[in-house]
Amino acid sequence: MGGFFGVVSSSDCVSELFYGTDYHSHLGTRRGGLAMCSRDGYIIRRIHDITNAQFRSKFDGVLNEFNGNCGIGVISDFEDQPLLVSSRLGNYAIVTVSKITNIEELARESFRGGCSHFSEMSHGELNPTEMIASLINRKETIAEGIGFAMDSIQGSCSILIMMDNKIIAARDKFGRTPVSIGKRDTDGAFAAAMETSAFPNLDFTFLRDLGPGEVVEFSVNHLVRLREPGPINQICSFFWVYFGYPSSNFEGINTECARYRNGAGIARNDDCSEIDSVGGIPDSGVAHAIGYANASGKPYQRALVKYTPTWPRSFMPQSQAARVLVAKMKLIPIEDQIRGKRLLFLDDSVVRGTQFKDITRRLYERGAKAVHLRSASPPIMFPCKFLNFSRSRSVLDLAARRAVETLEGRKVDDAETLREYTTPGTAQYNAMVEVVRKELGLTSLKYQTLDDLVGAIGLPREKICTFCYDGCDRACGGCREPVR
Ligand code: SF4
Repeated sequence: MGGFFGVVSSSDCVSELFYGTDYHSHLGTRRGGLAMCSRDGYIIRRIHDITNAQFRSKFDGVLNEFNGNCGIGVISDFEDQPLLVSSRLGNYAIVTVSKITNIEELARESFRGGCSHFSEMSHGELNPTEMIASLINRKETIAEGIGFAMDSIQGSCSILIMMDNKIIAARDKFGRTPVSIGKRDTDGAFAAAMETSAFPNLDFTFLRDLGPGEVVEFSVNHLVRLREPGPINQICSFFWVYFGYPSSNFEGINTECARYRNGAGIARNDDCSEIDSVGGIPDSGVAHAIGYANASGKPYQRALVKYTPTWPRSFMPQSQAARVLVAKMKLIPIEDQIRGKRLLFLDDSVVRGTQFKDITRRLYERGAKAVHLRSASPPIMFPCKFLNFSRSRSVLDLAARRAVETLEGRKVDDAETLREYTTPGTAQYNAMVEVVRKELGLTSLKYQTLDDLVGAIGLPREKICTFCYDGCDRACGGCREPVR
């Protein structure tokens, strides 16, 4: 998906930029980039491939090479960033966390309007950050241009722009991705981050979240709103389920605490008498499992541990075969915790199911008596069209959707049929869960319900995106029916 960080200070802030950006490393897998307004008045930039290396090991040189009081950084899933743009609005550096599903159409429109070219990423794809910059440059001011870009794209985009020793921060029109502002009272510094966990160790205190579509500008001792927030907030519920760092708050709600509540809710609706221990699939399943264990009274024990020294969470190869291999190598079984035991695991979600199928087989090979799985989120029935959750996720990559098509014996995309399969307790829902359970080789499988997940997060349902579970896109004018 990606994440970004920006900082302005009255003194040199290379270190803050470096560590602040690094605290977003778990959000992206491909590229890291930093840009800074140097004391000499020009913009310095570095971009590195972080596919096989941690951000810090690739960027620690900038601590000596960079200087300046204003910088932006990004962890990017696909495209090279930051981009340096020379435009009629001025020279600036830009980073985005974005997904643009109508990018080809926007490019065609741009060509018709006289634009001569866009740079390409590899595999012939356009760079979404470049497209956003190009849309911004069509208007008279940066703020107007950001509004125009947000209205033009389908998908989502949150943006940081650095120009003239100040930063402009914009949150996605429907707030799918979060942007928070931090302040350091000792020197009037400001920072913008997607993860509030970047603030405390850099001595920033959380000031506020940006609202959906809101744009602000900040420099030292100066913060001003350039664009009012819009009325519809649809923050991605997966920030609390999976993406978000445990120490971060989104919309004022802590991720770790939401996961404890979520796990506890699953336990309350479960018959826990048939299990010996509870474990979490690391990393994101762990807090849900702690919540479950505490509520159920069953011991939290680790039958699987993650080998952390060389496998950062962010490393996720694009090929399915490589992903399966990496998933296997990262998790090491503890046989003494497995043999003869009835194990229950919490995972953040069941997307493809491939990883857990392999885990189940390995647990049985090591003598597990039973392997139960509880998904901390409801069945994922619709591929995300707003964030780069995973580029290859088509409908039939989804275990739940495959199960529906197996049961129906046909391609299923009508709202009526899918509603039956997304409603817990219906015969169709139960049959779908049973197909997935058998495919994964589990003793039992249960999913969290959407009502209970929303309750664990603690925001009103209309303020959270739940599209991948129920197909409802409230940003398109109200949610009436699940959509394809
Ligand atoms: S569809 Fe799912 S993953 Fe995508 S923004 Fe909505 S809740 Fe998040």
